[in-house]
Amino acid sequence: MCKDFTIIAGPCSAESQEQVLLTAKKLSQTLKPDYFRAGVWKPRTRPGSFEGVGTKALTWLNKVQTEFGIKAITEAGSANHVEKILKNELKAFWVGARTVANPFSVQEIVSACDKKDIEVFVKNPIHPDIELWMGAIERFLVAGIKNVYAIHRGFYPYEKTHLRNIPRWEIPIELARRLPEVKIICDPSHIAGKPEYIKEISQRAINLNMCGLMVETHYNPKIALSDKEQQITPENLAKIISELNFRKTFTDNSEYQNSLNDLREKIDAIDFQLIDMLEHRFKLVDEIGNLKKDNNITILQLERWKSIIESRLNYANQDNISKDFLLKVLQMIHKESILRQNKIFDEEK
Ligand code: PEP
Ligand code: MN
Repeated sequence: MCKDFTIIAGPCSAESQEQVLLTAKKLSQTLKPDYFRAGVWKPRTRPGSFEGVGTKALTWLNKVQTEFGIKAITEAGSANHVEKILKNELKAFWVGARTVANPFSVQEIVSACDKKDIEVFVKNPIHPDIELWMGAIERFLVAGIKNVYAIHRGFYPYEKTHLRNIPRWEIPIELARRLPEVKIICDPSHIAGKPEYIKEISQRAINLNMCGLMVETHYNPKIALSDKEQQITPENLAKIISELNFRKTFTDNSEYQNSLNDLREKIDAIDFQLIDMLEHRFKLVDEIGNLKKDNNITILQLERWKSIIESRLNYANQDNISKDFLLKVLQMIHKESILRQNKIFDEEK
């Protein structure tokens, strides 16, 4: 597990002083989060829905800091927001999924951070573009902001799913590989879209060694003015957190280490064999490419492609490998094969 596991909790939006203070009080009595979140300016996709109460809510968030000793965090979407956040002495802000996609806006926000000890949390952009996410984080780091975190809130669901946003876990994993010093916090609320999936998503984040959770929490979600379908009560959040299985990244148990090393050696050998086999397969693909070229035959042979899929999927034992996965692998190999044969076709005779 991450050394300091960070919990950020609080409503989607600050709605009234009472709602903010009551939610903060209940949170401080149950699990005392590290940060109290509440959106003051709400980025709504279309006009007309609740757009937040604006600047006046910053004094309520400041009260949360002084009365409960919990750092307050809100969303900044412009330089003007940052100035107001700093003036009200909030300890942190986050950059939302819509703003992160615009480097001009991000740079304006970075330039407004004249207090370098402000803590900044950068959400992933709505669409799965890791470069934009990474670029926004780098802008803050380059400007000398020391405490920069990433928030994984899932991505626009191009595929139909039970979740509001698809997690695409491989993207935060890649971000961790590229920026190992930046801690990643998971926002299961915006991934799940419904309370019933929050625990499962949180556990998955912990399994991937993420460093914290941001969970939308309202003292009475039913009356929330934004994202009411996904907010949970402070009591429910405390229960979920108590039921999560926090895992270590390391153990000095030698039996575990020896078994792990043995298995990893076998996996290493298989990976190299896979690469050798693929290289061999692509050589044959190139030979076929030359044959087709010499005989002026199309690259795509639909019947052959259909029979490849059918025979390989039938051959695979579903208990050991999923058909969905195998189909994706075959499609990737086929795509690469077509690319190679196109290259051969393009070569001068
Ligand atoms: C939010 O945290 O309330 C929010 C608007 O999130 P996102 O930018 O991830 O949609
Ligand atoms: Mn929200």
